[in-house]
Amino acid sequence: MQQRQTIQKQLIVKALEKLKHVKGHLSIDEIYSAVREEYDSISKMTVYRNVRQLAASGMIMQIILDDGIERYDLNTHAHHHFTCTKCETIYDVEIEELPEFSQQLQDAHGFEMEVAHLFFTGVCDVCKAKKQ
Ligand SMILES: [Zn+2]
Ligand SMILES: [Zn+2]
Repeated sequence: MQQRQTIQKQLIVKALEKLKHVKGHLSIDEIYSAVREEYDSISKMTVYRNVRQLAASGMIMQIILDDGIERYDLNTHAHHHFTCTKCETIYDVEIEELPEFSQQLQDAHGFEMEVAHLFFTGVCDVCKAKKQ
C-alpha cells in the first residue's frame, strides 16, 4: 500500500516537472490528465489525495489566485504571482521591497503584516509586444 502511494506521488511530481516549462502552475484537472497519460487507471480521487499530501508535506505549494482555482507550484520558495489577463499565463514574481513595506506599515500604523502570498493581474511583456 505504502509502495503504491509512493509511486502515485512520483507520478504526480513527474507530471508537474514535465509541464513546468509549458505551465508552472497546474490545476488538479491538469495534473490529473497529465498523470493519466502515464497511468490511465488512476482515479481523480487518488490524484486529489496525493496532491494534497504533497502540498501538506511542502513538496509542492498550493496557490489560489483570484479565480479561486487551486493550483500547484513546484517552486516552493516564497514568491508571488502575476496573471496575464490576455494569455492567462501565471508568472512567478519576487517582491524585494516587501520587508520594507511591512516595516512601513508597522511604523505608520502599528500593523503587523503576515503576508504569505500576493497576486497581481495585468498584461505581460509577451502580450504587450504583440499589440505593438
Ligand atoms: Zn500575456
Ligand atoms: Zn509560482
